[in-house]
Amino acid sequence: MAVYAEVAVNCPFPTWQTFTYRVPPDMEVRPGCLVYVPFGPRILQGVVMEVGVPPYPEAKEIHSLVGDGPLILAHHLALARWLSHRYLTPLFQCLAPMMPPGSQQKPLTYFVALGDGPADALSPRQRQVWEYVRARGRAEAEEIKKALRMPQVGAVAASLVRKGLLARRYELARPRARPHLVPHVRLLVSAHEAHQRAGSRLAELVGLLAERGPLPLAEVCSLLRVKRRHLRPLLEGGVIALEEVPVPRDPLAEVQIPQASPPTLTPHQREAVRAITEALRAGSGGTFLLHGVTGSGKTEVYLAAIEEVLRLGKGAIVLVPEISLTPQTVMRFAARFPGQVTVFHSGLSLGEQFDVWHAVRRGERRVVIGTRSAIFLPMDALGLVVMDEEHEWAYKQQEPPPRYHARLVAQELCRLTSSVLVLGSATPSIESYHKARTGVYHLLRLPHRLHPDGRRGAVVAPLPQVEVVDMRRELQEGNRGIFSRRLKEAMAEALEAGEQVILFLNRRGAASFLECFACGHVPTCPGCQVAYVVHRVEGRLICHHCNRSRRIPPRCPACGEDALRPMGMGTQRVEEEVSKLFPGVRTLRWDRDVTRHWAAHRRILDAFAKGEAQVLVGTQMLAKGLHLPQVTVTGVVLADIGLYAPDFRSSERAFQVLEQVAGRAGRGPRGGRVIVQTYRPTHPALQALAHHDYEALYRQEIALRQTLRYPPFGELVRITVSHPNFRAAQALATSLSSRLRQRALGRPLDVLGPAPAHPFRLRGRYRWHITIKGEEPNTILADLPPSQGWTVDVDPMGGA
Ligand code: ADP
Ligand code: ZN
Repeated sequence: MAVYAEVAVNCPFPTWQTFTYRVPPDMEVRPGCLVYVPFGPRILQGVVMEVGVPPYPEAKEIHSLVGDGPLILAHHLALARWLSHRYLTPLFQCLAPMMPPGSQQKPLTYFVALGDGPADALSPRQRQVWEYVRARGRAEAEEIKKALRMPQVGAVAASLVRKGLLARRYELARPRARPHLVPHVRLLVSAHEAHQRAGSRLAELVGLLAERGPLPLAEVCSLLRVKRRHLRPLLEGGVIALEEVPVPRDPLAEVQIPQASPPTLTPHQREAVRAITEALRAGSGGTFLLHGVTGSGKTEVYLAAIEEVLRLGKGAIVLVPEISLTPQTVMRFAARFPGQVTVFHSGLSLGEQFDVWHAVRRGERRVVIGTRSAIFLPMDALGLVVMDEEHEWAYKQQEPPPRYHARLVAQELCRLTSSVLVLGSATPSIESYHKARTGVYHLLRLPHRLHPDGRRGAVVAPLPQVEVVDMRRELQEGNRGIFSRRLKEAMAEALEAGEQVILFLNRRGAASFLECFACGHVPTCPGCQVAYVVHRVEGRLICHHCNRSRRIPPRCPACGEDALRPMGMGTQRVEEEVSKLFPGVRTLRWDRDVTRHWAAHRRILDAFAKGEAQVLVGTQMLAKGLHLPQVTVTGVVLADIGLYAPDFRSSERAFQVLEQVAGRAGRGPRGGRVIVQTYRPTHPALQALAHHDYEALYRQEIALRQTLRYPPFGELVRITVSHPNFRAAQALATSLSSRLRQRALGRPLDVLGPAPAHPFRLRGRYRWHITIKGEEPNTILADLPPSQGWTVDVDPMGGA
C-alpha cells in the first residue's frame, strides 16, 4: 500500500498550506528529511513533516531524497510549526533557519553502482561511466564529467539508472568558504622617499606605515582622521597601495586557549547555581531570570550551569547579542571547556557555518556561543539555553521572516525539550521582569559588582556615580555649547590625569521630536504616550502609532516660551566640539557611519583600548559589554534623544542603554563617574539611572503599560503596507485597516492607524503601519491569506 507524507514546500508564493506526496516504494523517508518534490512544472525543495498521513488521490511522488536520514530534528519540526503559527510565517520559511547553512543551494548528485549487472548491451559511453562508478562504488556527477571529459554525463548516467545499473543520490554540498578580505594600506617605497613625496598632511600616515607595516584602511582613516579620498594622491603616485588581505574570522582558530579553573563563587552566585543545577538535574525545564548589574559575576553562573549540563551528558546553547565585539567572553567559555566550545554568527563564512552546524549535529561540540540564529542549531541532547543581556534588541529578527524574538523561541524550544532557560541581564526587559515578579520565571539576584581580588576571590566594588545635569540651567546661565560646565571639567581632569573619556550619543529612533529648551516639555500623543514626530512639510506633529496629529505649536504648550526645537545631533558634531575644546587630544569616532564591518569595529576598539586616543565618541554600540579600565568619565551628551524615540519602549530602552554605558566607566581601579546631560532631569528613566534603581523604572513602566495595554498586558502586531505609488499605498493601507477593524469588532483588540512609517519612503516604496493592540491579535490575521503587499511583525521592537 502506498505511503503518503506531508511536506512543507519552498513555494514561490506565500502559503499556509503543506502538501501531500506519495513516497516511492524504494525511498526511506522519515520526518525531518530534506526532499525534492514536483510542484507544478518545477521541482522544489521541501521538508517532510509527517509520514503516514491520509492518502490524497492526486498526490504526486516525491522526486528525490537528500542525504540518507532526517536533517531536521524532531523537536525542531515542532518548533517550526509553532514559529509559523506565532509569527504568521509560511512553514518552510520557519524551517529554513534550522537547515544547514547554504542548503538552499543545489545539492550534489551522486551515482552509486548497483551490483555487477549485465554490462554487455551498453554503448561505449555508457560502459565508460558505469565502469568509472563501479570502480569507486560511488561518484559525484561533476567529478565524472571532468574525469571522463564527457559533457553529456547526466543523460548517459540517467540511461544507466533506467537500466537499474546505477542509482542516484543527492547530498548537500559544503558551501565554499569565501575568505574575509579587508582592504589594507601598504607602503610601496622607502620611508625616506615616501616622506619626501607625502607632504606634511600625510607625514603621519607614512610614519605609521613605516613603523607598523600594512594597516587596515579603516584603522588608518579613523586613527589619522582622514577620508579615503585624501589618500588618492599617494595611491596615484605609487607611494602606497591598497590591497585586500584575508582576515580569519573564527576567534577560536586564532588563539591558544589556556585552560582556566573556576573561582570560588560568592554566596549569591552559589545560591543561583544551586537553583539552576537543581532544575537541570530534575530535567523538568523552567526559566530563570538572573538579575545582576554589569560585572556582578553572571558569566561565572552561566559557566557553572554549563559544567553541570555537560556532566549530565547534555549540551548548552549560549546566546549573546553581538559576538564579534566580545571575544573575551568567548575565550572565557573556551578556556573553561576546552575542545567542547564552538561559535556561530554571521561573521563566519557560509562554509564555516556549515561546519559548525554539522559539528553540533554530530554531537562533537556541546557548547555553542552564538548570536540569535544559534538558537536553531541542531543540538540533539539540549539541556540548557543561556541568553545573556536578554533585554537586547539584537535578539529580534527583522529580515527575512520569521520575525522572531530569540527569547520567545528559546522558551518554546526549552519547553519542547524540557531544558532550562537562563536569562541574564543588569536591566531586564520589563516583560521578563514582570514574569519573574509574578512567578512565571524564577528570579535570581546578584546585587553587587565584583572586582577580582588578585587571588581567586572577589571583592565588592561600587557602581559608578551618575550625575544628571540640567541643560536648561546651562542655557539660562549663558552656556550655549553642547557640553555642560560639569562635563567639561570632568573631561579636563580625566585627560589631564592621562585617563580616557567616552562620549555617548543615543541616536536610535532618529525621527525628530520637539523639545522645549526652557522647560523640557516634549509634545506627546495623549493616546499612545509616545513622542509626536515632526513632519516639517505638512507643518504637523504626527503620532507614528495611531496617526493622531496636530499643528506644530508656535510656543511650548507647557510653559508658553518660544523655545520648542527639534532634537537631533550627530556624533561628528560632538567630535568637532571636543577638538575645539581640547586641541591636540586624539578622538575616535565609532558608529555605523564609520564602520560597516565588525572587524573594523574591533580595530577601533582595540586602538582605543591601547590608548591610541583619549576620547571615544559613539552611539549605542558603546553599550555592548566592553571592558575599558582606563575610562573614568562617561558623558551622555543628550539623553533626551533616546528618551523620546517614537516607541512605547523608549524609556525602558533609554534606561537600559544608559545603564550599560554607565557600566563602561569605572571598571578599573580608579573608579569612574557618569555625567548625563538632559533638558528633562526629572524624567523617571533618568532618575532611576541616577540611583541605579531598576525597580523604580520597573514600577513606573509597568503602571503605564497596564493603563495602555502595552506588553506584557497586551500584545502588539505591526503590519507594514508598502507600494511604489503614493496613492496606491495609502489606499491599500486604508482598506486593510478597515477590514481589520471589521474583524476586531467585539474582541478586546484595537486597530490603530494607518500611520506613516519611519522612514516613510524606503527603497522606492511608500510605507504605512497598522498596529493591532490587545489580546491575541494573531486571531484576526491567521486566516488572511499571506500576502506580498504587506508584512507582518508580531511583537515588533523599535520605532514606529
Ligand atoms: P557579568 O557577567 O555579570 O558582567 P562576570 O562574570 O564577567 O560578570 O564577572 C565580573 C568580574 O568578576 C570578572 O572579571 C570575573 O572574572 C570576576 N569574578 C566573577 N565571579 C568571581 C568570583 N566568585 N571570584 C573571583 N572573581 C570573580
Ligand atoms: Zn497615538
